[in-house]
Parts: sequence; C-alpha cells; structure tokens
Amino acid sequence: MQEIIENNLKIIHHRIERACLKAGRNPAEVKLLLATKTVPADRIRVALQAGEILIAENKVQELKEKYEDLKDIPHQAHFIGHLQTNKIKDVLKYVSCIQSVDRIELVQQLDKRLLAEGRTLDILVQVNTSYEESKFGLSPDQAMAFIKETARYDTLRIKGLMTIGLFDAEAEKVRPSFRLLRTLLEQIRQENILHEEKPELSMGMSGDLETAIEEGATIVRIGTAVFGARMYPDSYYWNES
Ligand SMILES: *Cc1c(COP(=O)(O)O)cnc(C)c1O
Repeated sequence: MQEIIENNLKIIHHRIERACLKAGRNPAEVKLLLATKTVPADRIRVALQAGEILIAENKVQELKEKYEDLKDIPHQAHFIGHLQTNKIKDVLKYVSCIQSVDRIELVQQLDKRLLAEGRTLDILVQVNTSYEESKFGLSPDQAMAFIKETARYDTLRIKGLMTIGLFDAEAEKVRPSFRLLRTLLEQIRQENILHEEKPELSMGMSGDLETAIEEGATIVRIGTAVFGARMYPDSYYWNES
C-alpha cells in the first residue's frame, strides 16, 4: 500500500512538472492538493509522510473521523465540498481554507462564527463553470457581485476561485470551464478586492490536470490518481445529502 501511494505521487509530480514545462510555467507555482474522500486515515498518513502537505475533504463527517487521527502529523487541510451552515463550527476545527464558498448565507454564518472565535479564514469562491445542474457553485455571471459583497467581511480572506469543471468528460472538453475561471479571476483582480498578490485558481483533477495547468491552475485537486478508484460515484459527494 505504501509503495503504491508513493509511486503514484511520483507520477503525479512528474505529470505536473511536464505540464508546467509545456505551458512555460514554473512547477513551484502549482500546488498538489490531495482529495481524500473515502480514503482511510492510514493511507492519507502515508502521503503526508512522503512529503505532501495539502489535503482536503468533501464531507464534514469524514473530516471529523479521519483528520482527528492526523493531528500529530504536519499538514494543511482545506474543505472542498458543499458546506451546510450548521456544520461550520466542526469544519473550522480542522481547516485553514474553505474552497467551496458559494452563497451569501454561508458567508454570513462563517463571519459570525469567525468573529466569535476571533480569527480569519482563507476562502476560495466556487464557480459552476460547466452550467451543469448537479453541481454547486455560483453561476459565472453572479461571481463578481458575490465577491464584492463577500469582500466586505473582514473575517474572510478571498484567495481566489475554485471550479470542478465539466464532469466526466475528455480533458479537452473541460478546457472552456478552466478558461472561463481564469478569465473571471482576471476580471476580479482588476477590482483590487482579493487578499492575495498571486491569487489561486483551484482546478483540475486526476483526469485533466494537464489541461488545468495549461489554463493557469495553481492548485490541482487529485484523488483517484494517488489513492485509487472510489466505491461511490462522485455525484454522491457533489450533492446535498
Ligand atoms: C474528488 C474530488 C477531486 C479529485 O477527483 P479525482 O478525479 O479523484 O482526482 C477534486 N475536487 C473535488 C471537489 C472532489 O470532490
């Protein structure tokens, strides 16, 4: 198990480097985030021991069960799933960034809790760039107004944008999604409301990380290619229940 994960990580880093080279980018600009849904804590630990630092969950229940066991090993945790407001308190115990902020009610409730805890939080705004019904995220034409509104909350540090992209398609078909996210980010940068000189574009998964890097990704979120196939379909993780 250890060897497989370590070897998969090598392959992924190689893919990232090659894609950066092809796109004329510096590989140091692209962070590898491990999407750990359904992966048991001991396997996540292997990846952390191999030198990875950035991990993320989709569901609060899994975050509580697994990341509690990982407290002794240095890492950074993000949240990348649909977040219900009644779970905010639990999520904040584990993560330094929520990548899936997509509605003002969530912003308000996060702000309330963060004020009570006397802290700030990094966030990415999730945009639905594929116009599919089943996915969360703001529609692209709402993103600017939403970010302007969110920027008024001092507890939240807007670091960039996240998207899932077109689901289950060939890598090339997902390119317009990634390109749209980058265009949005450029528009938002002009407004000087981001809390980051070099804002993040979180996009690209196991099947399409090369395309995402070509389109400017700074965080690629990888699950399957490191930990193997999952039992549940992704729609289970990308839906409300
Ligand atoms: C599962 C997941 C990923 C990783 O997907 P893989 O295809 O397994 O690499 C990336 N982003 C989100 C939001 C996910 O839920």
